[in-house]
Amino acid sequence: MKAKKHHSDFAVRLMEHLVVPTFVLDRTGRVIIWNKSCERLTGIPASDVIGTKRHWTGFYTEKRPCLADLVIAHGASQIPSLYSVDCSPDPDREVFSAENWCHLPIAGGLRYLAIDAGPIHDEDGNLIAVVETLRDITIQKEAQDKLEVLARQDSLTGIPNRRLFDEYLEGEWRIATATDRPLALLMIDIDHFKAYNDTLGHLAGDHCLKRIAELISAQTRRECDVCARYGGEEFAVILPHTDLSGAVAVARRIVRAVDLARIRNPGMGPDCRLTMSIGASAYDAENRLATLDELLGSADAALYAAKQSGRACVRTPGSKLAA
Ligand code: GH3
Ligand code: MG
Ligand code: MG
Repeated sequence: MKAKKHHSDFAVRLMEHLVVPTFVLDRTGRVIIWNKSCERLTGIPASDVIGTKRHWTGFYTEKRPCLADLVIAHGASQIPSLYSVDCSPDPDREVFSAENWCHLPIAGGLRYLAIDAGPIHDEDGNLIAVVETLRDITIQKEAQDKLEVLARQDSLTGIPNRRLFDEYLEGEWRIATATDRPLALLMIDIDHFKAYNDTLGHLAGDHCLKRIAELISAQTRRECDVCARYGGEEFAVILPHTDLSGAVAVARRIVRAVDLARIRNPGMGPDCRLTMSIGASAYDAENRLATLDELLGSADAALYAAKQSGRACVRTPGSKLAA
């Protein structure tokens, strides 16, 4: 008996000094251990929480279950609604893993925590306690988020790239078709850009692409509008809640803004200005397109029509004159 007591004292001591922030609940959900690292992380002394069910106050501003509470309640199904990420590899297993932005009310500040919680059973398999361990991975999370942003940004112009364009357009297509709201698309291609590069050089070409990206972005004013570099000297604009006539209006503004910028394209003649061709298409009351591919295809066909009809203009599907 004495040896057993000695062992359990040792185990408690071990846990209290463990470098990983850890707390333990008994099977009724009361705190029985709140280790030194957990005190440091949360700013709450063990004496304030031991014997209570107030462990949540260390991590959240409003009362809610912690992962250890979910282990006691067999509440795996609640993890997705309560945490940013459910990392439990097997939904049926007893150990839960999740990640969450926690607002540490006492310690202050928002921290991103990786959390694991698992049960401890006695020899007969009865639950006697649940251990929850926490790791502050805010720095890793912020670095990962920055990488995610970079992965969706065009490195030359700084505007969204094709990847973000594809993801955003797919989301907006789903919303538009589900809610029956219009969605418009512009495909933009700089005219005779090869001639620009050939006469002024690739570096000047790069500079010009940056300028064009700024000019287009400045004409897409709504928070939900997305202007992306589609590839090479092509750009694309997603205009949610916009019908075809609205899209043509934005496209004309873009053509005009580039014209007013008076960028010369000497490769096409001494007084030639750089221009662009735009294809506009939309899913709206008059254009009930069936698929996203149709929307993309019709914008592309409209751009082709703009090129065919002399460039420096806006066209809509069916080559209707738009500008
Ligand atoms: P069109 O009016 O038919 O569109 O003629 P274009 O010359 O613009 O089209 P083409 O497809 O023949 O040439 C596109 C040019 O765009 C060729 C390529 O060198 C240039 N380009 C594509 N990406 C970049 C880039 O990142 N930087 C620079 N400087 N040039 C680029
Ligand atoms: Mg092109
Ligand atoms: Mg071109």
